[in-house]
Amino acid sequence: MTRTKRVVVIGGGVGGLTAGALLAREGFDVTVLEAHVYAGGCAGTFYHKGYRFDAGATVAGGFQAGGPHQIAGDLLGITWQIERIEPAWVIHLPERTITRWGEEARWREERAAKLPELRRFWGIQERAAEAAWQFAARIPEYPPASLGDLLRLAAKIRPNLIPISPLALLSMGQLLNWLGVRERNARTFIDAQLLISAQTTSRHANALYGAIAVDLPRVGVYHPRGGIGNIARQLAEALAKHGGRIVYRHAVTRIERRADKSFLLHTNKGNTFEADIVLANLTPWALADLLGEAAPPALQREVKSRPSTWGAFTLYLGVPSAALPTHAEHFQVVQDLDQPLGEGNSVFISISSPHDAERAPSGMRAVTLSTHTAIAPWWRLRQDDPDGYQRRVEQYRDRLLDAAERVIPNVRGAAQLILPGTPAAFQRFTRRPLGMVGGFPFASLLNVRGPHTGVENLWLVGDSIFPGQSTAGVTAGALRVAAEVVRVAAQRRFAQPARLSAPSSAR
Ligand SMILES: Cc1cc2nc3c(=O)[nH]c(=O)nc-3n(C[C@H](O)[C@H](O)[C@H](O)COP(=O)(O)OP(=O)(O)OC[C@H]3O[C@@H](n4cnc5c(N)ncnc54)[C@H](O)[C@@H]3O)c2cc1C
Repeated sequence: MTRTKRVVVIGGGVGGLTAGALLAREGFDVTVLEAHVYAGGCAGTFYHKGYRFDAGATVAGGFQAGGPHQIAGDLLGITWQIERIEPAWVIHLPERTITRWGEEARWREERAAKLPELRRFWGIQERAAEAAWQFAARIPEYPPASLGDLLRLAAKIRPNLIPISPLALLSMGQLLNWLGVRERNARTFIDAQLLISAQTTSRHANALYGAIAVDLPRVGVYHPRGGIGNIARQLAEALAKHGGRIVYRHAVTRIERRADKSFLLHTNKGNTFEADIVLANLTPWALADLLGEAAPPALQREVKSRPSTWGAFTLYLGVPSAALPTHAEHFQVVQDLDQPLGEGNSVFISISSPHDAERAPSGMRAVTLSTHTAIAPWWRLRQDDPDGYQRRVEQYRDRLLDAAERVIPNVRGAAQLILPGTPAAFQRFTRRPLGMVGGFPFASLLNVRGPHTGVENLWLVGDSIFPGQSTAGVTAGALRVAAEVVRVAAQRRFAQPARLSAPSSAR
């Protein structure tokens, strides 16, 4: 008789939990080991002095019909505790304020009035995004790692993808140039949104990926009740419902590969966990570290040669409701069109919902501010110049508060609590090496990272694999990895039948 295969997932981020819960539903024996005391990682919600702050992610997308969260939720029997928000967010450029309405007619009116330079862009963007969402809902084997993957991938391509396929070979900047869009406000409007989704601006971002990235408000932005961490909480419940378990306060410190090809995972509590299959909800750097000398040469080369990804600088504010705007929950502020984005020049601001009493003491709201930041200067100063490091924290705090003034006048006077978060804090709380967050930039669709690690039965999940960052992105990646594990297990006569497929509503 075949024994139920033991799966251990290292990390209870949204990617790890989604993949783990899907495999538990397929009959695998799943254990998620989570270092922290709660799940969610970069999309977690933490308690501090009566507030529940979203640590990183604040904007939730991908819950529309055919969106990754909807597909995973249907498979797992989750009724998401979410509400759609309108408008999705408001973008403040130095001399223009643009509201990203989800409702089509309002958005058409807004963009015609505020962004006439992009008139021809939207038709192409919407058609491309529509076809790409439909393709994504078929859980494609992308990037293909074998001939079998390639054949399965080809079978999922529909005719509506063909006319927009040239975009796969262009950068968003080339597309905008081709459309004659040179006006700085229009370019910055696109760039600011690409930076938070594709992790790079139009100069490098792939046009097809970018078309989906700027589509989020149209397909829907949602507010998870209780904060973004509620997505992970509901996933952890689904994991348990399907027979799996999550073990908190257990950080995996070493992955040992045994002679019979099974794994022994060592934790900081001195415990060990056996596994036939391991899903690492980690960055390649963290995985290589856990494998040590057993890391395959390709993985070792990857972590030596890959440029580091972005870090984040965040501020968590407790602000009286009376001092806050009521027309939107999310805002993006760009302070200076002449300066590069990130580093406090572009800041994302999210305010907890007025209807979410759990998030803050009475009369107050929890506010998260974030900006992209290069990690190297933070770590240099932290090591060599502690005073300089402190000055940098203050400088970034001031930049973010300056940006917030556009949305929350007199924010410094109003805020009753201001808590900064540096890349070092992200390293500490999410265990991502050097606090590198957000996954890899999407410059080319032909050179993206897949889930394979070079070690049989060891896969990556999370925002380091295609399609990358965001709770929706890591969920799409998790659906693909879970389907692949089921298929491989069936081929190797593991115990489970292959029944993981998109629910009919997504087809
Ligand atoms: C500032 C910021 C803003 C963002 N804004 C948005 C947004 O608005 N919308 C959006 O959708 N996305 C946003 N993102 C991106 C999004 O949060 C991430 O892409 C996504 O949550 C990553 O999920 P993941 O599955 O890769 O896991 P992670 O979030 O990286 O979680 C990994 C988990 O593994 C655990 N872990 C790590 N190492 C070990 C170990 N050795 N043993 C045991 N456990 C371990 C960690 O504790 C953590 O819980 C933002 C990110 C940041 C940082």
